[in-house]
Amino acid sequence: RRLGWAVVGLGKFALNQILPSFAECKRSKLVALVSGTPDKARQVASQYGVEPGNIYDYQNFDAIQSNPAIDVVYVIVPNALHPEFTVRAARAGKHVMCEKPMAPTPAECERMIAECRRANRKLMIAYRAQYDPFNRTAIEMVRKGELGKLKLIVADHGRILDPADPADRWRMDKKLAGGGSLVDIGIYSLNATRYLTGEEPVAVSAMVYSPVGDPRFQQVEETVSFLLRFPSGTQATCTSSYGCAEVKRYRVFGDKAFLDLDPATDYERHRLVVGDKQGEQEKQIPNQNQFALEIDHLSECIAEEREPHTPGAEGLRDVRIMQAIYEAAASGQTIRL
Ligand code: NAD
Repeated sequence: RRLGWAVVGLGKFALNQILPSFAECKRSKLVALVSGTPDKARQVASQYGVEPGNIYDYQNFDAIQSNPAIDVVYVIVPNALHPEFTVRAARAGKHVMCEKPMAPTPAECERMIAECRRANRKLMIAYRAQYDPFNRTAIEMVRKGELGKLKLIVADHGRILDPADPADRWRMDKKLAGGGSLVDIGIYSLNATRYLTGEEPVAVSAMVYSPVGDPRFQQVEETVSFLLRFPSGTQATCTSSYGCAEVKRYRVFGDKAFLDLDPATDYERHRLVVGDKQGEQEKQIPNQNQFALEIDHLSECIAEEREPHTPGAEGLRDVRIMQAIYEAAASGQTIRL
């Protein structure tokens, strides 16, 4: 059977990417909505065929416990609220998919993992790129040694933070966002270096910059550059910025060839190019809905009692490294991990 999913938070990402993707799921169906805005919830419910009795708000959310139609809760609210809704969902006996970044601090991530474990429920962090066929091809090529020995990764994520967009307002508020461009989009650069190498970084150094007097960056940072060193000797140069035109790309350099994924972490239309001294070639990969693949992955893991590919521990690792990146920038020191 298809597992029943409840989506918590009907914001920009949920409405534009996640809800429409359920139509392409094979193991999952949307059965419930959790929203603070009743009119919006009713309208979205009728659009997606969700029964009016399966609409909850943030106060009565815990009543999902007695709703057997709901197997999984997908948490898509501002970052600092991820722990609260993950823990409430687990205590209500539901499995959890939680958006990135997992939480503002490692301690909160650990609590989320512990609560889901105690409730014997699965916890998956929504690292969609790890379910995307282009990124998976890139990982496979690196693992098979098609680039030769891996030496360098360069990964960049940027966009303009726009206070006119309601989705960007809480991103300027440290209490809700937990950080600036690093935790929001730099996490894609960081996570890519880890899934491409299959290694954990051992050292990090970083610089952070925010333009003085810019009202958007009173609490959170605009731009971060960070360097990572991996045990094999591979090094990564990564950036994130809320101040540059849109970029979402990485390039991986081996001693024989390079691989370019640009865009690498868009919602669709990725482009994978492989090159060496003979020339460059674009890989033709059929496009698939990465969100549907990601959602179905968790449903499949629940049905087959397997650990998801990106469990809570994966989210915790990035949160720990991002904390070290901020520490490295603040101290001017290289931090050993
Ligand atoms: P958004 O502001 O559009 O949506 C957030 C939702 O949470 C809104 O519906 C809002 O009403 C609700 N909310 C509940 N309590 C709130 C509170 N106290 N303050 C503010 N809003 C509150 O933001 P978004 O861009 O949809 O991001 C939501 C989450 O999804 C974030 O964790 C973000 O990192 C993640 N996200 C992931 C991706 C991805 O590609 N995986 C893309 C975008 C956003």
